[in-house]
Parts: sequence; structure tokens; C-alpha cells
Amino acid sequence: MSPHVTKFIRDLFNTNDAIPLHAPAFGELETALVVDTLTTTFVSSVGQYVDDFERGVREYTGTSQAVATVNGTAALHTALKLSGVQAGDFVITQALTFVATCNAIHHLGATPVFVDVSEATLGLCPNALDSYLNEHAKLTADGCVDTKSGRPIRAVVPMHTFGHPVHLREIHAICNQWQLELIEDAAESLGSFYDGQHTGTIGRFAALSFNGNKIITTGGGGMLLCRDQASGAQAKHLTTTAKVAHPYEFYHDQAGFNYRMPNLNAALGCAQLTRLPSYLTAKRKLANAYRTFFADSDYRFVDEPAHGQSNFWLNAVVCADKASRDEFLVNLNRAGIMCRPVWQLMHRLPMYAHCPAGNLQVSEYLESRLVNLPSSPIIGQQHEPT
Ligand SMILES: *Cc1c(COP(=O)(O)O)cnc(C)c1O
Repeated sequence: MSPHVTKFIRDLFNTNDAIPLHAPAFGELETALVVDTLTTTFVSSVGQYVDDFERGVREYTGTSQAVATVNGTAALHTALKLSGVQAGDFVITQALTFVATCNAIHHLGATPVFVDVSEATLGLCPNALDSYLNEHAKLTADGCVDTKSGRPIRAVVPMHTFGHPVHLREIHAICNQWQLELIEDAAESLGSFYDGQHTGTIGRFAALSFNGNKIITTGGGGMLLCRDQASGAQAKHLTTTAKVAHPYEFYHDQAGFNYRMPNLNAALGCAQLTRLPSYLTAKRKLANAYRTFFADSDYRFVDEPAHGQSNFWLNAVVCADKASRDEFLVNLNRAGIMCRPVWQLMHRLPMYAHCPAGNLQVSEYLESRLVNLPSSPIIGQQHEPT
């Protein structure tokens, strides 16, 4: 199988050079806007591009509030803080995720709780969430608590893995039933929709990321999304130095995070945002090609779920077993085609090994079999951006 895969991927990207997993692409507009921040000297936390980028993301996603941050972890940290997550709380998330989801929970002194993912979406499984809560939680006058320890279970953080939207309606209903805050880790899902609604606009808060490997990049960057104006204003306040507006006095009424995105990065974001529609088209074309190629093979192509539209940020296949996964990884990487296994599950990492967890059967199945395939929207000569 591997020689065929190698040839197929080389033809797809039309290059004999090394093929990265995901590379950013810039054109003249990126250069012009970034240089503009230099010539005007507005490189830092004041400048028009931050406002423009926030407005652009608001309009694209259909949310009412968007606050740009230094990275996605910072946006998640702020979202959790504004949801009322406190030291000693439990926050439920999935075992199969990027470590940043758990780090944001940990930075508040809260403890992540790991629940299984669904095989179809690779994201938090509503049935697993329901089972976990029925087995380990109870509703009290103060909200949802862990039955054994009495500690509050405050929030649920599903993650839209590789851009595939989770079963949001079902998860939202469970959160309402158990009085849990829903915060979407939408770091990988800009351009993904759940039943026509952009991911990150259904939970009370959501976080996007614009790290270098994401669908669009600001170098490093993130954005907090929410719907109510008061929360948006609080997020803006907390992500700055929490300075109370005054012409010259310095008075701060909270310990602000100073998570602001610099104007320099936002300029790059404004240019990148104009490319999002064409990147989505290119990624869908790529996904269609992978789907056709892997049809009727021993490799299951991870497709978008029926309930939504994926941005196909990172394409993936699930191999028949760990041995064929390992062979696949060795052969393709040796041929200069970067492929990688999925993240090690969160409960295996030293800082999260002690955290509570439900049955993680599907997560463990995927951990030993899933491979990410090269997914850049633009590589080779024929699709150079202008
Ligand atoms: C990229 C990413 C983040 C945020 O990462 P930053 O590097 O802090 O922008 C958070 N969660 C997930 C699942 C991610 O993939």
C-alpha cells in the first residue's frame, strides 16, 4: 500500500520536495499590511488592524463578540475564567485533544476530567458524557458536583478535532440538564459549521487559534468568541491590564492577564482572513481526493459528520491496527512526506495522569491507529497565491 500512497500524495501536491503536514502561505497582501504596521509604527497593542480583524471574525462566524488574544491557550484561559471556573473545580474535556485544552484548565487550578470521544467526529462523545455524569455526578442547590469528592463540576470543553464539528446539540442539552457551562475549543475549526451555525457560536464561550499550523495564521494568536456584550466587555478588560478608562490616571480593578494580540500580528490576520474561502475550497478538494483514494482500502478516511461541514484542517486515516499505522508512518516520513500519529492521550502525560477519567475505549483505539496526512491548502507551483 505504501508505495501507492507515496506516489498519490506526491502527485496531489505536485512536488518532489519534502511535503510538510501543514504549511502557511502568504502573498503580497500579507506583506503590504504587515509593512504598514512598521511604517506607521503601530506594531503593538494599539492599532486599527486588531479592530478590523476582530470585526472580520465576528462577521465570518456570525458571533457578536470577538476578542483577539496572543494565542489560543490564552483565549481558552480567559473563557474558562469568565465562565466561573475556580481552583479546585472539575472541568470535563476529551482525552483525545491537544494539550493546550488541558493546560488552560490547569492554569486556573482546576482539574481536567477525561471523557471518551465519538468514533465518527473524533470529538467529545455525548453518550460518554451522559454516562460519566450519571455515574459520577449529582445536581445540588449549588449546581453539579462530583458525588465522591463534593467538588464542583463547572464546565464542559469539547474540541472540534481536525475541524470536524462535535455533536453540539446533544452536548449542549446535557450541559443544560446538568447546569454546566459549555465552552468550545474551536482552535482547529475556523470555517467549520454545525447544522449551518459556525462552530464556537453555540457554547457560552469559544476559543480560536491562529498559530502557524492552523488554517489561517497570525504567527501566534487566538480569539475568544461569545454572544453577550457584557461578557465581551469583560473579556476585553481581562485580556488587557484591566485598566479603568481615564485620560491619565492608572487605576486597575482586577489582575489583568495582558493577553492582547499585537497590531503587527492582527495585520497578518486581516490578510489571511481574505484567503479563508479559497483555503476551504482547496482543503475540500484535497479531502475529496483522499476520500476517493482510500475508499475500499484498509484505511478509514475520517470524513465530515452528517450534522455539519468540516474545514478539513488536517486530513486523517484510521489504520487497521497499530502495526500498519507504524509501517505507514515510517514509510511516508522516510519518503519525505510528513505524516504523524495523533496526540498521546492526555491522561498519559505526567501532569494529567492523576486526573479522573471515564471509559476511554474509543480514544485508545484511535490513539494507536490514527495518522494525519499532509493537508496544506497550497503547495507546489500551480497554486501560488497572489
Ligand atoms: C492549536 C490549539 C490550541 C491553541 O493553541 P495556541 O498555540 O495556544 O494558539 C488549543 N486547542 C487545540 C485543540 C489546538 O489545536
